Amino acid sequence: MRIILMGPPGVGKGTQAKNIVDKFNIIHLSTGDILRAEVDGETKLGKKAKKFMDAGKLVPDELLLNMMENRLQQEDCKKGYLLDGFPRTIPQAEGLESILNKINQTIDYVISLTADETELVNRLVLRGKESGRSDDTEEVIRKRQQVYWRLTSPLSDFYRERKLLHEVDGLGTIPEITNRILKVLE
Ligand code: ADP
Repeated sequence: MRIILMGPPGVGKGTQAKNIVDKFNIIHLSTGDILRAEVDGETKLGKKAKKFMDAGKLVPDELLLNMMENRLQQEDCKKGYLLDGFPRTIPQAEGLESILNKINQTIDYVISLTADETELVNRLVLRGKESGRSDDTEEVIRKRQQVYWRLTSPLSDFYRERKLLHEVDGLGTIPEITNRILKVLE
């Protein structure tokens, strides 16, 4: 099974992603996590990505597409995967489509978690205090929200046209939301 999980920053994608991949025994590919590992490892890609990430901006599409084209062809992706944080723009979605065509794969479901923006900013400010993530300050959080609504939310239409989109209410307890997602997938 191949799934794309999307939703605004703070909606709980990471938590839900983990619950879903455990259940279906597929791998979790979070481009945020992959990029943070590149930054920590001070790789060439990490050095390029860091300044965008710290400003709450998106890393350029071309870098993401190269990174994911390689990643999706690794052995562990054969059993299926959940994409978390990718694609994040229409060019990334188009790029992903052509990568998948090339390697003879298709996406089975796109799950879009929905939630109210004010609630999300509050949650993220709280997380920032706990996690110490360098992009979890209020200013950068607002920036990331704006980026989401402007660049990422148009992907809903892209995937609706392809009959892959399933919108799931992202407000509620963690197990409630997991169950809503599982109902779509089962
Ligand atoms: P969020 O909590 O905002 O969902 P992520 O961990 O998914 O955060 O991503 C953190 C940062 O990594 C983003 O703000 C962005 O700079 C970069 N990033 C992650 N995925 C992508 C992507 N698909 N395209 C461009 N930039 C990305």
